Amino acid sequence: MTISNTARHTASKRVVSVEKAPPRHWVGDGFPVASMFSYDSAPKLSPFLLLDYAAPAEFRPALRPRGVGEHPHRGFETVTVVYQGEVEHKDSTGNSGLIGPGDVQWMTAAAGIVHEEMHSREFTQKGGTMEMVQLWVNLPARFKKAPAGYQDILKSRIPELALPNGAGTVRVIAGEFTGTGNAETAKGAARTFTPIDLWDLRIEAKKTARFRVPEGHATALLFLRGGGLVNGADSVDEGGLAVLDRNGSEVSIEAGSDATVLLLSGAPIDEPVVGYGPFVMNTHGEIRQAMEDYRNGKMGHL
Ligand code: MN
Repeated sequence: MTISNTARHTASKRVVSVEKAPPRHWVGDGFPVASMFSYDSAPKLSPFLLLDYAAPAEFRPALRPRGVGEHPHRGFETVTVVYQGEVEHKDSTGNSGLIGPGDVQWMTAAAGIVHEEMHSREFTQKGGTMEMVQLWVNLPARFKKAPAGYQDILKSRIPELALPNGAGTVRVIAGEFTGTGNAETAKGAARTFTPIDLWDLRIEAKKTARFRVPEGHATALLFLRGGGLVNGADSVDEGGLAVLDRNGSEVSIEAGSDATVLLLSGAPIDEPVVGYGPFVMNTHGEIRQAMEDYRNGKMGHL
């Protein structure tokens, strides 16, 4: 006798669009990035505000570290995932850190922070390949004035699981990985204000990885290396971003060649978004206040 599992039936998430990487632009003099999406244009992916991908770029040895000098943020979080190279961070709360391949920095700007994001001294001296992602995660209005904070999440703290059927591996940066079938589950290393899944997936050529994200969440897949077929129907090339519908919960990725995919999925924050440069708030008045507070040194200094 078999037990029907129709009650647990869940629909797969439809691919709404496949975005190609736009031309790159420089962030400071350290990070040549393609902005895969941004809150001020389509596609909308609340709670995510922006995703910049700095695809592998070579830097010659130099004397002076490249990067982004002192600048503020308020109202959201910046999440930096390093794939290659080494980034050094310093902020007005007194935190500083070095993140290398596999490490993640989860910075909560919230009420306000001033920081710099630079190539590390060692990377600067030796030169090499830099590859990273920066994701901006919005905060609900009630947390936009929370104290600034910083989570240095080193590779060793990020749970890594094998995907079923030898399909590859997943590193659970945030959220809870839920595979299908006999897959293991694991909780992510990052603390988040709202439900967020952020998974670093490695899928082997010709294999299919299957998993579930919560119903109703905004979800996207960035293909950093290799391309693949999403939910058996939509093909995404290397460097592309698949944007999935909020409805449904099942996702499958069939890798064409060995693929590195970043999955982001989160509970939408359906509140007004008003942004200006490094500030993302709910009203124009709050943006004016942020500019004034920064000018008056209320977000601190390095
Ligand atoms: Mn920044």
